Amino acid sequence: MRWSKSHLFTLKDAPNDAEIPSHKLMARAGMIKKVAPGIYTYGNLALRALRKFENIIRQELDKRGCQEVLMPMVHPAELWQETNRWKEMGDGLLKFKNRNGHDFCLGATHEEVITDYVRKDVKSYRDLPANLYQIQTKYRDEIRPRFGLMRGREFIMKDAYSFDTDEKAALVSYDLMYDAYKAIFDRLGLEYRIVEADAGNIGGSKTNEFQVLADAGEDHLMVCDTCDFAANIEVAPALIKTEKATGAALPMEAFPTPNLKSIGSLSKSLGIPENKLVKTMFFSANDGTDAANPPSKDLKAVAICLAGDDEVNPVKLKNVLGMSNPPLMLTDEEVKKTTGAWPGSCGPVGLTIPVYFDSAIEGFQNFIVGANRDAEHLKNVNIGRDFKVTKFADLRMAKPGHSCPSCQAAGRKGVYKSYRGIEVGHVFYLGTKYSKSMGAMYLTQEGQPLPIEMGCYGIGVSRTVQAAIEQSHDADGIVWPHGITPFDVHMVVLDPDQEEVRQSAEVLYRELQTRGLDVFMDDRAERPGVKFKDADLLGFPIRVNIGGRGLKEGIVEMIPRKTKAMEKVKAEEATEKVLELMQLIRAGKLPTAPAKTTGAAAGAKA
Ligand code: ATP
Ligand code: MG
Repeated sequence: MRWSKSHLFTLKDAPNDAEIPSHKLMARAGMIKKVAPGIYTYGNLALRALRKFENIIRQELDKRGCQEVLMPMVHPAELWQETNRWKEMGDGLLKFKNRNGHDFCLGATHEEVITDYVRKDVKSYRDLPANLYQIQTKYRDEIRPRFGLMRGREFIMKDAYSFDTDEKAALVSYDLMYDAYKAIFDRLGLEYRIVEADAGNIGGSKTNEFQVLADAGEDHLMVCDTCDFAANIEVAPALIKTEKATGAALPMEAFPTPNLKSIGSLSKSLGIPENKLVKTMFFSANDGTDAANPPSKDLKAVAICLAGDDEVNPVKLKNVLGMSNPPLMLTDEEVKKTTGAWPGSCGPVGLTIPVYFDSAIEGFQNFIVGANRDAEHLKNVNIGRDFKVTKFADLRMAKPGHSCPSCQAAGRKGVYKSYRGIEVGHVFYLGTKYSKSMGAMYLTQEGQPLPIEMGCYGIGVSRTVQAAIEQSHDADGIVWPHGITPFDVHMVVLDPDQEEVRQSAEVLYRELQTRGLDVFMDDRAERPGVKFKDADLLGFPIRVNIGGRGLKEGIVEMIPRKTKAMEKVKAEEATEKVLELMQLIRAGKLPTAPAKTTGAAAGAKA
């Protein structure tokens, strides 16, 4: 591609809404242009990177026997009503009517459509297994689209679905996709972790996320410092337990606590550390996905007790309560109505609602809680004697330093460290959730009808391309991983007004292309400084400077973007040298300094 003939405009400054490096760089490199919040036009460079990534995905999936299909983006409501997700997905699903008044939505994911496709064809065990995938635009009406392609409303996803006769076979399909994902992300050279995760409202029992490690990541991960266990904080077990108290239960007593509304102030005033105090939080166990029945109408209030220095984990709570979405906290007014006191003076004693107790403090005895009367607390409170616990469960957020469950089980001492991650892929074993509700059945060898066992597997294609930039850039611009770089070589033509330079550049441009490289040529009439800056910003793996002065000496300059270690090479050998360098880059063997073949450096080394 010749810059002079292409629609490519780099920017000096990133747009105001670009907060993280990769978003800023993609915008400045002219790769993406915002059309509306979370909705972008991909420029040619972005599209080239996306297509390369898509082809890596295709190669790895096709190799494993998966088949590509393409489903519609517009879905009839009836399919989503069959699984009840028309309601459950809430406003995340963009719904609309066509001219005949029929309800439709834009595809946010395709379990319903693919299950419908498969149930129409599959009759018996002989028609299984199947593993179908597509690469397609999804639409999710995200509340807060941000960070460019990271959290878009419209984005490109690869979604795959497996269909098997039984659980054992379905788990083999799961493992196959797990391996495919490893191969795909390894080929990008990304630093990532495979983590335990929550299934969200997709459903299913076994699930892992593929998380690219980056400070800008929206996900919080707990990663073991000893073994390879890692979990999204949403589900990371928080294992440390207090010892079971063995002393006598003392008589419960009320005492005044005016102006002591927070755990911090209570702890200070009483001289008791926060982790020895018990705090009580209130949530609504009503999913409220039905507009006619919002949580405020039927609170289904529940109380959660945990140590004063711990935080409630809404995803763990959602799973314990069997809800589809994380529960909402009650407002202060709702707490007052439920307990008789304002938040800060509430506790489990005397409540008529269910009380869930964090298992980390199951052993607490003679502890302090709010009295459910304003400005009053109770001391010497004991479980069982003073209030009933509906359920003990791990309800709190894990913290760095907590024991790794896998190490604990194996008698090792590993503990969590905290990382940020970008979720680029997600694999689920679904079981029969969709096949049962949609009647996707097959006949066994014995002629018995059974629901098909399913799995689903997503990769955020557009998100991954941006995540790669988030992980691979420097102060001057993008440093493309070679697997998805829009171009391999960036030729900077200095002195494009000189006929000889233009001709030599043209020859090299064609030669490099003939040898299979994707070549970008900056042939604009711009100053060298401007061109070098743009080359660093666009970040293709190899830059070649070709100009009048160098050609007089018979040389061109070759510069790997990553190390910026310039090497002068003979003009007639330029093609071979670039190919050699590209091979090193692809093999991950780029030397940190250029190979010196002559002169002082070689001598000094000897
Ligand atoms: P998130 O937790 O980030 O909202 P999700 O768990 O809802 O994502 P999945 O349903 O697992 O997403 O979708 C599969 C993949 O699609 C995700 O792993 C992610 O890489 C990508 N993805 C999901 N939502 C978006 C989005 N709004 N913008 C870009 N990519 C997305
Ligand atoms: Mg996910």
